[in-house]
Amino acid sequence: MLSYRHSFHAGNHADVLKHTVQSLIIEALKEKEKPFLYLDTHAGAGRYQLSGEHAERTGEYLEGIARIWQQDDLPSELEPYMNVVRHFNRGEQLRYYPGSPLIARELLREQDSLQLTELHPSDFPLLRQEFQKDERTRVARADGYQQLKAKLPPVSRRGLILIDPPYEIKTDYQAVVSGIHEGYKRFATGVYALWYPVVLRQQIKRMLRDLEATGIRNILQIELGVRPDSDQRGMTASGMIVINPPWKLEAQMNAVLPWLHSKLVPAGIGHTLITQVVPE
Ligand code: SAM
Repeated sequence: MLSYRHSFHAGNHADVLKHTVQSLIIEALKEKEKPFLYLDTHAGAGRYQLSGEHAERTGEYLEGIARIWQQDDLPSELEPYMNVVRHFNRGEQLRYYPGSPLIARELLREQDSLQLTELHPSDFPLLRQEFQKDERTRVARADGYQQLKAKLPPVSRRGLILIDPPYEIKTDYQAVVSGIHEGYKRFATGVYALWYPVVLRQQIKRMLRDLEATGIRNILQIELGVRPDSDQRGMTASGMIVINPPWKLEAQMNAVLPWLHSKLVPAGIGHTLITQVVPE
């Protein structure tokens, strides 16, 4: 079942949180000259047209990236991410949103490499086309979870692994944990960044318990809620679980998350959370 299309959601508050964390991790990895691998298990189409039918139908980006991209009190932590957004939007109008593979493409250096997988029959060709001329990148129409076994450890022994499934099937909540566990067995020093939606809080509590039970250490949780938890349909918050976070990430997110919350949720409801779930 592949009914999820990220084009309906691109640039929403969850993307803003995810891509803020992604860009800060990439910038931290770039502090050393040594190359690293960026592995995106669920890459999506890459580029999203915000004036397109899908994005306009939901208008989610209007309550996400549109609320922050032109703010003049932008915290410095958001600069790398926002520079990429501006690169795709030269004028005053917000027309395109870069997904995680394009954010990585713009931020990575010549010596780094990208490995992207996407399964959707419509999104995969779009992704492949975006990267046709990028020699650092391998794009595959393959199962993202399999990559955690097949592509790790990277030759460079440094890497960021972004795991961003659609959670359209409930087993994704278990699949992400076993996928990370498999990856970690092969590459325990990698940085793993897992995105999750809060639809039913119990699912996230269980996912975290399962992750803790693997014995993996050094796990940071970052969450941005736009509404109180609810048992009604719909996402009320989203978060990132980061394994082996760069040492500055917690402080950076402490600096930037209250600002993001105030801009993305002007009504002041919801919450922010940054917590070390498992210490080093
Ligand atoms: N990471 C992207 C970004 O931030 O721009 C968004 C990805 S979107 C949330 C999830 C994507 O995973 C969808 O495009 C979907 O087609 C794809 N997908 C679903 N199951 C997959 C699987 N088992 N392996 C690889 N891709 C999958």
